[in-house]
Amino acid sequence: MSETADLKPIKLYSSFCPVCGTTIDMYLHTYRTPLGEFLAILTAKCEKCGFKSSSVLTIEAGTTYNCIKLNVEHSEDLNTLIYLGEDVVITIPTMDIHISSSQLSIGSIVTAEALLLYIIESLKDLCTASLDNYKCKILLELEKQINLGKIEEKIEIILKSSEGVSVLKSYRGGNFELCQ
Ligand SMILES: [Zn+2]
Repeated sequence: MSETADLKPIKLYSSFCPVCGTTIDMYLHTYRTPLGEFLAILTAKCEKCGFKSSSVLTIEAGTTYNCIKLNVEHSEDLNTLIYLGEDVVITIPTMDIHISSSQLSIGSIVTAEALLLYIIESLKDLCTASLDNYKCKILLELEKQINLGKIEEKIEIILKSSEGVSVLKSYRGGNFELCQ
């Protein structure tokens, strides 16, 4: 893999060791091939018992879509791993949020949790002037729920890009669907 560009591993979320039950961190290692394709490897290692696991997630042409609707309803949905192509238009209809991924400084592979927190962070700047703004209250409430890992109301996130978007890993059936 000498020709691939190594990107920094990203700490994704915590999980439990299937062998001893200790809390372990999941890391994502991404590589960009000379052709511009991504190779992602999800790894976990237990410091206590030595358990190791890794799964390879590749993003190939033909496995991405132009429109995906994510349903974030349960805490495990926050761990959904998403691939974002260039200039993804992100819409959260119930919160009247429309934002382009190019306005957020996020990488191409993110969890639903990170995506929501980046959106909240980028919009919060607008809130300082009018703290009692309705949308700001919802954003702050949502941020609190995400940090506690408890989603009280289903959030639909629509991701649209002509360059393609994809769900690399999902932890619940029905967590996402294709759209137009
Ligand atoms: Zn273990």
